[in-house]
This record gives sequence, C-alpha cells and structure tokens, in this order.
Amino acid sequence: MTRRFPALLAALAALALAPLSPATAAAQPAAGSELVRLIEAKLPAVMPKVVAWRRDLHQHPELSFEEKRTSALVAAHLRSLGMEVQAPIGKTGVVGILRGGKPGPVVALRADMDGLPVTELVDLPFKSTVRTQWQGQEVGVMHACGHDNHVAILMGAAEVLAGMKAQLPGTVKFLFQPAEEGLGGAQAMVDDGALLNPTPSAVFGLHVWPTRVGSIGVRQGPIMAAAGNFKIIIKGRQTHGSQPWSGVDPIVVASQVVLGLQTIASRQVNVAYLPSVLTVGQIAGGNRSNIIPDSVVMVGTLRTFDDAMRADIAMRITRTAQDIARSAGATAIVEVDKGGLVTANDTSLTDRMLPTLRRAAGENGVQILNPVMGSEDFPVFTQKIPGIFFFLGVTPKDRDPATVPVNHSPLFFADEGALITGVRAMTGLAVDYLAMPAGKKAGN
Ligand SMILES: [Zn+2]
Ligand SMILES: [Zn+2]
Repeated sequence: MTRRFPALLAALAALALAPLSPATAAAQPAAGSELVRLIEAKLPAVMPKVVAWRRDLHQHPELSFEEKRTSALVAAHLRSLGMEVQAPIGKTGVVGILRGGKPGPVVALRADMDGLPVTELVDLPFKSTVRTQWQGQEVGVMHACGHDNHVAILMGAAEVLAGMKAQLPGTVKFLFQPAEEGLGGAQAMVDDGALLNPTPSAVFGLHVWPTRVGSIGVRQGPIMAAAGNFKIIIKGRQTHGSQPWSGVDPIVVASQVVLGLQTIASRQVNVAYLPSVLTVGQIAGGNRSNIIPDSVVMVGTLRTFDDAMRADIAMRITRTAQDIARSAGATAIVEVDKGGLVTANDTSLTDRMLPTLRRAAGENGVQILNPVMGSEDFPVFTQKIPGIFFFLGVTPKDRDPATVPVNHSPLFFADEGALITGVRAMTGLAVDYLAMPAGKKAGN
C-alpha cells in the first residue's frame, strides 16, 4: 500500500460519513461469548511468541515472490498445529485449513508476507541488515510496510484458533500471501486455487497503519483506491541548446504536460463525487546542459475509486499529452494501464462485524476512516467473496501520528503493543463470523 492523502478527502468524508445507528452498534454477534472467553484464555501464552515471530521476521525480510524462509516458517508452524497445509501455493504462499469440531461455514483470514527494497534506518536490536540487488543497485531489504506484523499476528491467530478447534463451529482458512507490493501475489494465490476446496464465504485482512497504537480504522464501502500506472514519451527533435528553434524541445513540452495533467483532477472531474490523484513520479530526458534531447519519458500513478472515472481520466491524460505536444510540433505516445482493483468493504458485513472490532480495540478504539489513496491487492479476494479490510494503528503513544514516518519509509516503525489487538481482531472476526446465525452472514 502507499500513502494517505487526507486533505483531498476531507470534503468527501464530511458528506459520506453518517454516524452509526444504535441498531448497528447493538448487532453484537450473540454466540461469541464462550468462544471469546476461550480466545482470551489462550492469549497470554501465545502473545510472547507473536512478538518473537515478528522480530524474527523483521530481521529477515524477503522481497516479493522470494518469501521462502518466511513461508517455510509459516508452513512449519501451521503443520505443528495439526492443520492441513497447502504450500507452495501462488509461488511462495501458504494456505492452512483448520476444520472445527462443529459444523459451520468457512471463513478466510489473510496476511501478506513481502518486504521492500528499502534500507532500514530504524535503530532496533532486530533491525534488518539484509542486502539485495534492485534495479542494478545494491539496497537493503526492510519490512517497511509492516507485513512482518501481519504474518506474526496471523500465526498467533492460527495458534489460538487451533487450540479451540473442538469448539469451532466451522472452518478457518489461513491465507499467507506473497508479493502484495505490486507483483500480484493475491492473484497468484487465487489462480492456484487458494479460495477453493473449501471456498470461504467471507475474508478478513488487516494492515498496520500510522495511527494510534492499538486503534482500528475501517470503512463501509470503498476504503483503498485502485492504482494504475501511465507512461508518456514526448518526442521532439534534438538540437544544440543554444539554438532551440532548430529543433523541437521535448523538455519544455514535458513541463507543460506535467502542469496540464494537474488540471485533470482539479478542474475536469467531479471532485465532489469521488477523489482521484494523478502524480508524475519520474521524468528522464537529456544528458548535458547544452544539448536539447530528442525525447523525454515520464511515468506516473493514477489513483481512483471508480472504473468509469478511471477510463475517463485515462482518456484525458492521453488528450492532454497529445494536444500539448502537437501545439509545439512534438508528438506524445501515451500508455495508461488498466490498473488494479478498488478495495471495497462489504457494507452490511462491516456493520455486523463492527462490534467485534470494538471488542478488540476498545469501545472508543474504532474509527470510521476516510478512503485512502493507497492501494492493495486484497480486492482480488473480495471480488470473489465478501470481505473486510481494516487498519491497525502502530504509532507509539508518545508520537504524533500526523508526523511519524509512514509505510514504505526507511524510518517506518511499528509499536508491538498493537500485536495483541491484531490477534484479538482476527480471531474475534473468525469466531464471531462462524457463530453468526446463517441468515445474517450474507453480504451485499
Ligand atoms: Zn506497502
Ligand atoms: Zn503493505
């Protein structure tokens, strides 16, 4: 996932966020209490292991589709708990199946496992010193998105739930997914049958987030944007820097295009409908002060919450680049990819599971969030079955969430105090969902 963009979303939030009705808040899953007592009884023994796993994983991060050590650790743990284990699945993923002693539905819990090519700058006893080659340069590898927490939390949830197998009214499927960071790990898992035999009827996933430690953020409906990339090549005509009239300067054209693109989100689409963000992140052209180059290449990202809006903005990107280029006698070659999926929470399922999240994070510990412009591949699962994706706060109490380094920063730091909330939330969602009367489970 990538960053928040709170300013743009404030107006939308004010319009879209109605307070929860008392009826919603009262929809506490009734059958939970004995199962919840069992969870609480097991936490004291399991939590020290969760902390130890998280530190070990943090110290040994692996890049997307290279999570061999991580998946071996996970598979060995799930086997030690007596689960059926499918591995490798989706290249380096692991699935564990826990069949409860009582009849009931199937629910899935998901964690992503990959680290990033980021050199860790946080001074921890278990700091990562792993190095790798990335795009021709030597860099560090770091769990800069906090997926080490996700894996440790789900390993802990697996141990808690396996310890109450006889009482579980249904089956829990544990999805340990590789390569969330842009390489399609969720799709690889689904392609390999991770949602088959048995097929879950709901899936839950979390992400650590720079909000107050132990708090939970969630939202009914769209919660994270679809991300797509675009590439624009401006073709001019090379000439000497002292006589630009002899050629066509693609650097000046590219500069105009960057500014022109910024009028799409701000002037051309309905900002009151849904937010969108368009960023040019890289420009390359020329190699000397006094040579006007032949061409300039720029790449960027587009974040949207609606397929039709994405297609409309893609058309506008192409039109803007081509028409500005034409005005200068240059040409523009534009590619806008189809992009990923919007992460959207099932609204009625979210309403029904809010009491579970409140039980995990405390009565005042759950916030209804603005949509986030970062993206996820969790919706690869939720386009098949209803689900909920939520954020778990990891910013220490003595630091300001507004100014701490966010996910993907070499200074990203996750407070371990959140781990128990994560385990409570994941185990709680599983047992409350399984125990919920059948008629209430269906999503919308
Ligand atoms: Zn990330
Ligand atoms: Zn992430």
